[in-house]
Amino acid sequence: MDNDLSVRKLVKKFGDFTAVQNVDFDVPTGSFFSILGPSGCGKTTLLRMVAGFEEPTSGQIAIRGNDMLGVPPNQRPVNLVFQHLALFPMMTVAENIAFGLKRRKVDGPEIARRTQAMLERVGLPGYGDKRIGQLSGGQKQRVAIARCLVLEPSVLLLDEPLGALDLKLREQMKVELKKLQAKVGTTFIYITHDQSEALVMSDRVAVMNNGRFEQVGTPQELYGEPATPFVARFVGDNNTWAGSVLECSDGRAMIRTDDGFEFNARAREGCISGKRADLYLRPEAMRINPQRVEGQNVFGVTVKAILFDGANSRLLTVTPSEHELLVTLPQNRKFDYIRPGDEITVGWDPEAGLCFGGE
Ligand code: ADP
Ligand code: MG
Repeated sequence: MDNDLSVRKLVKKFGDFTAVQNVDFDVPTGSFFSILGPSGCGKTTLLRMVAGFEEPTSGQIAIRGNDMLGVPPNQRPVNLVFQHLALFPMMTVAENIAFGLKRRKVDGPEIARRTQAMLERVGLPGYGDKRIGQLSGGQKQRVAIARCLVLEPSVLLLDEPLGALDLKLREQMKVELKKLQAKVGTTFIYITHDQSEALVMSDRVAVMNNGRFEQVGTPQELYGEPATPFVARFVGDNNTWAGSVLECSDGRAMIRTDDGFEFNARAREGCISGKRADLYLRPEAMRINPQRVEGQNVFGVTVKAILFDGANSRLLTVTPSEHELLVTLPQNRKFDYIRPGDEITVGWDPEAGLCFGGE
């Protein structure tokens, strides 16, 4: 597979502060690639270097195999959709979309043809004469993307484009954007601090923290096989315990938690016999009323609350030492009989727990 974007050893310093540290990645042609990380971790700085608005301190950026060093932004085959969309409010939808084509001195009939085609592609046929102020948030979003896509970039860069929308619309636009990308086939590089956006939309996701990439993988890989504690915490929910490693060999660890449990789990980075460690376990990996297997991660908890969000039910439970644990209830069985205050038995498969070195 060819790559639309290849980044090697990319570094950006602002004075003494390193905003992007030695980042390496490839984005395959036609894919949806997300960069996910908390606010301030360097996502926008990275994107601005790809777009050409920011000069790298060192490292390489190649688009479709061409080195971008010294190439000005308007000569790069990329386009950037900003968080605040930056539409021209006094112009019509069609004028907004046509703006870049006019600047490139494309002739009139060609501009009209491409603008109309683009309006249809983003699901806004007949909206060309409307003013920006007459559109809903989601429609403005689509105009902002259409305005970039009409210039036929190799890569579309999107910097938290859903950030300003309310939750319901964001949920809807997530699916819309994914469908749009699949339809036009343009490579999307999408920045977000919202893990659910990244998981739902992307073919691959890079998780960024403090200027570095912690892991690059498919959404399934990041969720199921987080490479670092940061990725485990940032992607999806977890139950965590702090403790010490009793034994660690062949990828297996026995950990004694600070509240006195001994658990068997998979050993990950930094898990060393005699050292501190943290255990991570997904709420859906917890089973209630498990078959008792001698010595295997089975224990009693008290139900504190039942958390129902419309699609799933979770139990908020506590161990005798008041350590809180979330337990997702399987959907194919009825658990109506469980009440706050009940004591239940829970357990988990040693394959489901990950033990990382801790403090
Ligand atoms: P994100 O988009 O992930 O929220 P940014 O890339 O905007 O993060 O910023 C990363 C870090 O770099 C922040 O600490 C920010 O303050 C700093 N930074 C960004 N641009 C500049 C600049 N022009 N001068 C100095 N520091 C900057
Ligand atoms: Mg940003």
